[in-house]
Amino acid sequence: MYIPYGRQWIDEEDIQAVVETLQSDYITTGPKVEEFEKKIADYVGAKYAVAVSNGTAALHVACLAAGFHEGDEVITTPITFVASANCILYCGATPVFADINSATYNIDPEDIRKKITKRTKGILAVHFTGQPCEMDEIKEIAGEHNLVVIEDAAHALGADYKGKRIGGISDMTTLSFHPVKHITTGEGGMITTNSKELYQRLILYRNHGITRDTSLLTAKGGPWYYEQQELGYNYRITDIQCALGISQLKKLDAFIARRREIAAGYNKAFQELEKVVMPKQLDGCNSSWHLYVIQVRAADRERIVRALHEKNIGVNVHYIPVYSQPYYRSHGYENVICPNAKKAYESFISLPIYAKLSEEEQDYVIRQVKELL
Ligand SMILES: *Cc1c(COP(=O)(O)O)cnc(C)c1O
Repeated sequence: MYIPYGRQWIDEEDIQAVVETLQSDYITTGPKVEEFEKKIADYVGAKYAVAVSNGTAALHVACLAAGFHEGDEVITTPITFVASANCILYCGATPVFADINSATYNIDPEDIRKKITKRTKGILAVHFTGQPCEMDEIKEIAGEHNLVVIEDAAHALGADYKGKRIGGISDMTTLSFHPVKHITTGEGGMITTNSKELYQRLILYRNHGITRDTSLLTAKGGPWYYEQQELGYNYRITDIQCALGISQLKKLDAFIARRREIAAGYNKAFQELEKVVMPKQLDGCNSSWHLYVIQVRAADRERIVRALHEKNIGVNVHYIPVYSQPYYRSHGYENVICPNAKKAYESFISLPIYAKLSEEEQDYVIRQVKELL
């Protein structure tokens, strides 16, 4: 028995949905893409959704649609997967790291304020572990300084911020459907937005910058006529993947309910223990629990991780602060440090959490962790 930190749940219904699409007329962009987009938009409460080939592509086209380019600064968190910051670099802009709040592990609005300069054009907030960032404060700062807000919600599909679903709150929100995330399409991603203008730009960037929409063309032409108006990419997703996504979406609420149960189980098991720090939840918000991250004494962390691996428990550490990666170090970030992020990273351990994790498996994880403290 091996217990990973996260994994997918694929059932017979999912397999059937994919097989049916393989037998249909559409293999790549067809009706399933639009259906999946519409269903995700409805689920998160956004007007528009654009499906793309993965979560990183979603971040990239969101940054392009936001208009980030050389000379611009975009403020983000160091406690995230490298893709969140890399997408700012893809556009030629500069990621600026604001520190995290030590209790919630999310970007700290106070530190965002300190990092704003004349060049700041956007804030890329990441709902780490599925817990929403302080969006009211972030939107207030953005309003004062005329900044675009992008939310990386790769961890936060189904999370609520003060009664609102993540996905319909700011300018654009991105999702990932990698197998460790809440629902999967193998590889896949989505951007949600309430702005028609941003929606049109996202569509353009997904498909080489090409449009056939007669209301957008700059000249008239025959029925074959199309225009490339921007430098876009091939970030299309397939109908095969979207058929899987539509089928997975039917189970999303059950998946999230199970993740919340598992998180409650860990909370209960560790609340009395002095040597474990548990994640603090924001009032009025409901995490969708992509990850369950505890902190242990930094001096014990490596020993505990190694020992758990020996017990076939695939705990992981999310995340190494992005600015400390060799690529960033050698590209101008050698002196950057966010003290709260550094300290938190040194004591983080991500425990197994996914819908298929059984009670027995979770009990086993809890017992082993307690023994090793
Ligand atoms: C998974 C993830 C991504 C990237 O998504 P892919 O689909 O793997 O490209 C981006 N940001 C965060 C926070 C993630 O967890």
